[in-house]
Amino acid sequence: MLLADFHVHSTWSDGRLSIPEIVDLFGRSGHDAIAITDHVVDTDSLLGKIAHGCRLSITRDNFQAYRAEIESEARRAWDAYRMVVLAGCELTRNALTGKRSAHALALGLDSFVPADGPVEEMLTRAREAGAVTVACHPNEQSDWFANTFYLWNRRREISSLIDLWELACRWDLFPQVSRARLPYVGNSDFHDRPHLYAWKTLMSCDKRPDAILASLRAGVGLGVTRLPDPFPAAARIPDETEPLRPCTVIPGFIEPATA
Ligand SMILES: [Zn+2]
Ligand SMILES: [Zn+2]
Repeated sequence: MLLADFHVHSTWSDGRLSIPEIVDLFGRSGHDAIAITDHVVDTDSLLGKIAHGCRLSITRDNFQAYRAEIESEARRAWDAYRMVVLAGCELTRNALTGKRSAHALALGLDSFVPADGPVEEMLTRAREAGAVTVACHPNEQSDWFANTFYLWNRRREISSLIDLWELACRWDLFPQVSRARLPYVGNSDFHDRPHLYAWKTLMSCDKRPDAILASLRAGVGLGVTRLPDPFPAAARIPDETEPLRPCTVIPGFIEPATA
């Protein structure tokens, strides 16, 4: 079984850690595969323009530099940790109402895909770029910025444009995804260290980028799991220099030793 997390943000958008810091944190903790998925925000809405003004989005201009850093860190991650790192993004359209908001991961991405225009066209562009598409936090009720119901409300109409649905994201579960028998993954929507212990995907396939993407595209051999959290909300998260210990619950997962 591979331990994987396909929804990770870095300082290229609104994450707190750089890509090298993410590679070391996930590599040291025993992950087998991750995807770096920084936001690509639309430029044709007021909220999108604000996000670009705050430099919270990958752009057409810096995509190749972003892609190149993922590529070089993927080589280091394999050499140092035998961990696969995939390139991706989170296509992000935020509207004032959740009904019009949509976030979708594009995994295995080599070229820039804009988040402008109708959501269906955005997903079609991601597919044409060869990416695996994932509907993010499809039925989230509690976090305003993650109230993204557009995809869920059209799940039948757009089913051919979405490969996978997040059954679990960060600390939340979406039982509706399971009940609808949709192909699913679990991801942490990682933005900072405590999210290391959130929901994950388990996979049974070879540990190679092409095998992982093929398995995701087919929606086979996938499960979700929540990692044991050794650090309650108020606890300090150890830094990179502190020792690690094997986890007793998830084989292969290594967690920082508690003080
Ligand atoms: Zn999101
Ligand atoms: Zn996200």
